[in-house]
Formats: sequence, structure tokens, C-alpha cells
Amino acid sequence: MPDSPMVEMVDVVKHYPTAGRGLVHALDGITLSVEAGSVLGLVGESGCGKSTAARLLTLLEQPTSGMVRIAGQDLAALDRKGARAFRRSVQMVFQDPYASLDPRQRIGDALGEVLTVHGLASGRTAVRSAVTDLLDTVGLVHSTADRYPHQLSGGQRQRVGIARALSVKPEVVVLDEPVSALDVSVRAEIINLLARLRTELGLTYVFISHDLGMVRHLADRIAVMYLGQIVEYGSWAELSDHPQHPYTQALQAAVPVADPVVEARRKVTAVRGEIPDAARPPAGCRFHPRCPLVEDVCREAVPPLLPPSGAYRLACHVRQRELAGTAVQQPS
Ligand code: ADP
Ligand code: MG
Repeated sequence: MPDSPMVEMVDVVKHYPTAGRGLVHALDGITLSVEAGSVLGLVGESGCGKSTAARLLTLLEQPTSGMVRIAGQDLAALDRKGARAFRRSVQMVFQDPYASLDPRQRIGDALGEVLTVHGLASGRTAVRSAVTDLLDTVGLVHSTADRYPHQLSGGQRQRVGIARALSVKPEVVVLDEPVSALDVSVRAEIINLLARLRTELGLTYVFISHDLGMVRHLADRIAVMYLGQIVEYGSWAELSDHPQHPYTQALQAAVPVADPVVEARRKVTAVRGEIPDAARPPAGCRFHPRCPLVEDVCREAVPPLLPPSGAYRLACHVRQRELAGTAVQQPS
């Protein structure tokens, strides 16, 4: 299916039954698609369901309902052989590569093991040369192969995490907060590396961050999530210059402005209150208890994400009405 998007989620729901909290609504009707070779930014506060989405996309978990498709393939319809091939084509990069690296294994051996397990290289010389190529790809010196994880900086370790994801030649890379744990000075280096790799290797990314500003330089499209739902979807330009949803506006206001004078004068309006428990999502619009624009309709009816498909989408009763009003008043 050459015309299907590389990544697709259609009305995806993921509920976790728990003993203590009750039924956790981690994802409640997520629909999105990512074209081959492009980058989707998935943004929202901690607990809004970003990592859950990542686990569904990488087949680590199954959705409660709805469909996840990669390159046109419905993941629920995969047999075991298909699932194995699929696992190679979609790779994940985690926030903390340290947690997934064996502290007693040298980097070269860790990378070599992945290559061997997947049958991508065999024999000492071939494996070593493939490992060297991988280190080149992510901008690490060859001697990194002889180091242990604790001997590397956070940025170097994340480069190893990226090398490991790329070692199996994936088409899609899901990056779950890949720079959030890094020093600010190192973040741009890793973002630049990811940007270069995406172009060179024609990769499709789903780039997850709790920080809207972080996805700015990489994402072609951004989905803003709130309590398991997408509230606004568009390009960085649309979401930064004209954010419509009050939640996006609050996230946008928290992104620092480069000009220190402007930054000092700016009034930053944080979202009031705490994000509610996903086990007890508010009725109607989930954002209504924290929303400065709240009206009766927001407490009662769930705002749909409109238009259903399209490059820009919004789920807000009040703003939708305002936008519809403006459209009517515009002379033709
Ligand atoms: P994010 O990555 O945006 O911080 P998560 O996807 O990790 O959000 O979590 C979304 C919600 O689902 C949270 O309320 C979290 O506590 C809950 N959750 C995640 N995984 C599980 C699980 N395995 N069992 C129960 N609840 C979970
Ligand atoms: Mg997470």
C-alpha cells in the first residue's frame, strides 16, 4: 500500500484495569497519521498517555480497541513471523538509555549482540566493522566500543541508544522523551543528530516530549495531548503563532523566548490546577476544570477533534464556535 501513511492510529483506546485506582483511561480515542519520512511531535504533560501510545506503536502492548497500522499493516492481524519482522521495522529510543544498557557489557558488545541476534552481521570482523559503522553514524569515536555505559556522558549514552535503535535498519523510530534527561547544552546536539539521520536514512519519527518547545525543530506536525486525547493538531507555526486550544496556549506560553528582553517582559500563564487522575477523567471536555474559557457545554459534551482529517484540527467548543463565526463574517 504505497499511499497509506507510515504510522496510523484509528480511534485507539487503551484502558488499564488497576486494583487501586480503578480503570485508568490512558488513551481514549486517538486518531492520527504520520506520512513516511515525516516527524510527528506528541506533546503533553506527564500522565497524558504519550508513553502508552509509544508502547502500542512498538507492539509492546495491544490497544483495548481501535486500530494501529504501520505501513498499511494492521498490527492486530500480524502472525508471529510478521510480528518479528515488524519489531525490527519500528524501534524505540527511551529517555534513559542507561536503564536499558547492561552496565557490565562494553558498548561494542552490546551493539554487536543486537546485530548478531537479528542476523545482520556474523563473524568477529564483520560484526566489528558493522559496530564501527554504527558509531560513525551517530558521531561517536570508534574507541567508544571498548567503553562501559558508566564511562560515557549522558549525551554519548543517548547516541548509543540511537545507534542501537538504528542497528536493525528500522523505518520508524519512536523517541520517548529522548532529550528530556540531558543537559540543556547537549539537547541541541542530539536533536541535530536526529534531524540529520532522519534525512539521510529517510526515517519516520514519532517524537514524544512533555515540552512543546522541544519538538519545534524536528516535528512537521504536532499533536497536543491532554488526558488521553488529542486537543489540537497542527504545524509548529500554527501551534506557536496561533494556538487555539487554551491548553496549547498554556503550553506555548511556557516555551522560553530566545530574546532575553522579550522573555523578561513576557507574562507566563501556567495552567491552573493539577492534571486530573486518568482513572477519573472529567465529563465533557477533559480540560474544563482547568480552562479559563469554560462554559456549560464544556461540562456536558465531549468536543470532537475537527475537521476529522486535515492538516489542522481542534477540539474545543468555544474556539470552534468563534472560528466558525469568523468564517461566516468574512466577505467572500
Ligand atoms: P505519559 O508518558 O504521557 O507520562 P503514560 O502513558 O505513561 O503517560 O501514562 C498515562 C496514564 O496511564 C497515567 O495515568 C499512568 O499512570 C497510566 N498507566 C500507564 N501505564 C500503566 C499500567 N501499566 N497500568 C496502569 N496504569 C498505567
Ligand atoms: Mg512517558
